[in-house]
This record gives sequence, structure tokens and C-alpha cells, in this order.
Amino acid sequence: MNRRLEFLGEMGLAPLWRLRARDAPPAEEQNQAAPEFEAGTVSVAAPATAVPPPVVTLEAAPAAAAGADQRSLRIARLTLDELKAEVKACTACGLCKSRTQTVFGVGDESADWLIVGEAPGAEEDARGEPFVGQAGKLLDNMLAAIGLARGENVYIANVLKCRPPGNRNPEAGEVARCSPLLARQIQLVQPKLIIAMGRFAAQTLLNSDASIASMRGKLYRYQGVPTIVTYHPAYLLRSLPEKAKAWEDLCFARATVAGGTIKK
Ligand code: SF4
Repeated sequence: MNRRLEFLGEMGLAPLWRLRARDAPPAEEQNQAAPEFEAGTVSVAAPATAVPPPVVTLEAAPAAAAGADQRSLRIARLTLDELKAEVKACTACGLCKSRTQTVFGVGDESADWLIVGEAPGAEEDARGEPFVGQAGKLLDNMLAAIGLARGENVYIANVLKCRPPGNRNPEAGEVARCSPLLARQIQLVQPKLIIAMGRFAAQTLLNSDASIASMRGKLYRYQGVPTIVTYHPAYLLRSLPEKAKAWEDLCFARATVAGGTIKK
């Protein structure tokens, strides 16, 4: 890894995503040239394949829909305020014992864009907000690169509402118990597009065990909502070369929304 990037990373200054020289191009320009962007202060060559990849629409069966139980059916009828209260008091899995607080979600509750991540980490658990810390900063920079901002037509949530101890991976039972809460949250926000960030979010929403690499570049639907998959910002912090692929995914997302082929 570039030593300067490493140093900037240690200083908490990298990676920053910033369009250079001009604003994000209109959708019709995306087939001509991808804008350059910077990671930290080091220019990153524009991805050669920043053109949105071919769209393959796949309807995913939500995991929660299979074998819905009484709890799931009750949750599916809650209002947003009732859902917040449900999450706050939830003891449906063992994570309730170790959490500091639940992390419901943040942002515009009628946003067009919904970001779904994995689970709260230590900082999220302490602050009660998803995607804070370095990964949160990178997410904010990624959103800014396509003209979006946290809380402005963007809503951010996680698959799990409570922190797994030691930031371990979520367990299947925890994901299963928490999925009805996320499903209802998505129904209530009614986004135009979901971006599933990271393996757990993608696999949970799309009821798949496929890898991120194989799911990227395709347009899925979760409960009818167009859904795309990309890497989690925490992973991108550790794997800078993958940022070019994440940029492709963001271009794909932006083109999908701008293309007007999806309906709310
Ligand atoms: S992770 Fe989800 S299911 Fe488990 S206690 Fe927290 S809110 Fe409830």
C-alpha cells in the first residue's frame, strides 16, 4: 500500500472521496468518461469500467417472507414510531444482553436512497447511530461523490440493530430474528433504491449466500424495491484497490435512479 495513504489513514485523513475538476457528470455523460476522484490526497485513476454495468433484474425472496411467524406478522403492521419502540425494547435475540443501546437508523424517513449495512460497531453502540467513525466518514464521502448527503434524501440502517460483542460476525439466528424489523423499516421508508453494503446486508436482503463480487453489477429487487450491492466502507478502508469497484457501483446506482426505470 502507498506509504502516504497509510500515513494519512493513521491520521484519520484518508480516504476522502472528492470529485475533481468538475461536478458529477449528468447521466448521459457517464458512457463517455468517468470523473476522476481522489483517495486522500492521492489521485486515483478513473476506473476504466465506470460505465454502469449491464442491468440484470432479479427478484429476491425476502428471508423474512419464508415461514413468517406471529411476531413477524405483528411487526409487519407497526407504524414507524411503534417500530422504533419495538426495537428499543427488543429482546428477541441474545444481543440485547450486551448492547449499550439499540441502533435503529438515521436520516430522512421518506428518503429515496436507503443504505443498509451490517451491524453496529463499538462507536455506533455508544452513540446509537449507524455508520459513524472512519467507516461512517468514508460513507459520507461516497455519498457526497454522487451528490448525496446523510439525512438529505438518504436513510441509513443496519441489518442488526444491536452490536455483536467484540464486533464478531452476526450469527444466522440473530439475523433471522432481526430481519422482520428491517423488512418493516424498509416498507415504511419506501425508498426508490436500496444499496446493500457488505456481505451480510447483501446476503440477508437478497436471501443468498453468494459473494459480493458475484452480486455486484446486477439490479435486484427486495420487496419490489430496486437493490444493488457494493462493498462495506469498513472493508474499503482495508482494501483501497476495491474503491474503484465501489465507485462503479455508485455510478450504477446513480444511473439506475436517474434513468427513471424504477418507480417508487
Ligand atoms: S439484534 Fe435485533 S432481534 Fe436481536 S435484540 Fe437487537 S433488535 Fe432484537
